[in-house]
Amino acid sequence: MERHEYDVVVIGAGGAGLRAAIEARQQGKRTAIVCKSLFGKAHTVMAEGGAAAAMGNVNPDDNWMVHFRDTMRGGKFLNNWRMAELHAKEAPDRVWELEAWGALFDRTRDGKISQRNFGGHEYPRLAHVGDRTGLELIRTLQQRVVALQQEDYELHGDYEAYIKVFAECTVTRLLKDGDSISGAFGYWRETGKFILFDTPAVVLATGGIGKSYVVTSNSWEYTGDGHALALLAGANLINMEFIQFHPTGMVWPPSVRGILVTESVRGDGGVLRNSLGERFMFNYVPDVFKDKYATSEEEGDRWYTDQANNRRPPELLPRDEVARAINAEVKAGRGSPQGGVFLDVSSRLPAAEIIKRLPSMHHQFKELADVDITKEPMQVGPTCHYIMGGVEVDADTGAASVPGLFAAGEVSGGMHGSNRLGGNSLSDLLVFGRRAGAGAAAYVDGLAKRPVATGVEEAMAEAVAPLERATGENPYDVHHELQRTMNELVGIIRKSSEISEALDVVEKLKERAKNTASTGGKIYNPGWHLAIDLRNMLLVSECVAKAALLREESRGGHTRDDYPGMSADWRRKLLVCSTPPDGSEVTVIEREQPSMRDDLLTLFDRGELAKYLTEEEMAEYDAALA
Ligand code: FAD
Repeated sequence: MERHEYDVVVIGAGGAGLRAAIEARQQGKRTAIVCKSLFGKAHTVMAEGGAAAAMGNVNPDDNWMVHFRDTMRGGKFLNNWRMAELHAKEAPDRVWELEAWGALFDRTRDGKISQRNFGGHEYPRLAHVGDRTGLELIRTLQQRVVALQQEDYELHGDYEAYIKVFAECTVTRLLKDGDSISGAFGYWRETGKFILFDTPAVVLATGGIGKSYVVTSNSWEYTGDGHALALLAGANLINMEFIQFHPTGMVWPPSVRGILVTESVRGDGGVLRNSLGERFMFNYVPDVFKDKYATSEEEGDRWYTDQANNRRPPELLPRDEVARAINAEVKAGRGSPQGGVFLDVSSRLPAAEIIKRLPSMHHQFKELADVDITKEPMQVGPTCHYIMGGVEVDADTGAASVPGLFAAGEVSGGMHGSNRLGGNSLSDLLVFGRRAGAGAAAYVDGLAKRPVATGVEEAMAEAVAPLERATGENPYDVHHELQRTMNELVGIIRKSSEISEALDVVEKLKERAKNTASTGGKIYNPGWHLAIDLRNMLLVSECVAKAALLREESRGGHTRDDYPGMSADWRRKLLVCSTPPDGSEVTVIEREQPSMRDDLLTLFDRGELAKYLTEEEMAEYDAALA
């Protein structure tokens, strides 16, 4: 087993991980970046639409307060308001910082960073590079890592003296010394050899959990590893019942079902129609949003050129609303031939403009579905996309409850409440990646002595177990059953009996997973890797299902058929998941969300707040104004 010593180990090389690692290194810490797939291959690179930041380049009325309000509304006020505040205030600086590091964003006519419309954002706010924003973000952050390595070479004669990348290396356990983090254990994907990092501080930046579902925009790495690593190390997860089903994934052909169709298609003018040709979203504007959205197609269309005097079209409602509406249309028999609805940009923009603004979408549909989106509509339907739930962290430092453990990006919870607005993830990664890197560095500075890694033998035995069983369950069978169960029983619309059924299945799958056998050896063995990942997917699925069963209301990315509508009783409740170190059972408890600070509360109109908040909270609002 290889062994390395670092001050900070960042697990994940997406936007959050890279930004955290850059910060830790800039604070003088010897930093490792560990990633399961190739360096540069992360969800961040797949992000299309852009990074939300209230720079006010396209509409000068935009500012952090408007962004904060939109984020809280999008999350149905269950957001960690301090995170939403920091995010709205700091996102512009993080985008400008990227530009200073070499990012080339699309420009406005007067040469500023261009910003595009997206669902739930009052003003054009997403800094973008065509529909390939994530690629530019990752390219820039990687370039920054290389620049720092070049500085280190100048100073120390070694490029990797202070920041080193361990790619295709999967972490399977966090190690502790007493209550505190002391290391991370994993294996190299290619050789199967084990690797140990001795470190007092770990930043989790492992992204999402989508691979627990059949229809998902997520790729193979997203098996909830960071969520599970945190749980097993003794940290809490919050908001796990809230999963974002993106309204527009490809539905055809079956081999690509779930692949994302960016919201930019709607932001740039694309409309949703059912099989009768109706723009059905006008029938699905909920009361809380009625005054903000157009009531006629004419008004919605005028908004694209005159935002001051018109309201936005309902195709740009937050994602949870659009996904539910599509689901309802398909269920009512008004779907497209392949079980989705139609998303049409061909009749809305000239072909050349579509190719210029949406080059990846044009390419994706041509290559994968033989559809030319400049000539005909796409067929789209909801796909499991993003988890709002994750590691409970301190907003300012990214610290989890376990000393030495930090989390940022999609693996952390709280920022987005019950539903994330599109574009708010890329900016979240930058804002909280930086803060977690700084938090970890400060933690290391405050330590009197380095902790000692314990539990290495156990971690090794756990990892090698599927290889040592001569016969047993096929990990692919267990995985498929889990994906089908979560999709069908804890999907976009949920009810008590189905969630309970899912929990029974998960319990049985946990037993089967303990018995998986992987044929072949340690060298590049995906069956073995999946057997290891199953522990994480099952743990995360148990959290999602248990929290979903408990929350008897519908809010954001959690819709209960048997409890439609938001409930005042649930308004302030956070659901907190934890497990014992062996992960044998997930416990979920309720915790009250702290009251919002007065100066933030008074950014909202009383009438609007009354739609969301409890009477007790409204009394706090009135007292703040008095
Ligand atoms: P990721 O970028 O997902 O990176 C996770 C990293 O962790 C990877 O390097 C992975 O290899 C590593 N990892 C995971 N497990 C382990 C392990 N056990 N050991 C070692 N390494 C591990 N958001 C927006 O704001 N705007 C958009 O336009 C947008 N478009 C999107 C389009 C698509 C197709 C998808 C899938 C998502 C999109 N999102 C968008 C969401 C956004 O991209 C993600 O939420 C975000 O990139 C997550 O970033 P992250 O840094 O948290 O993790």
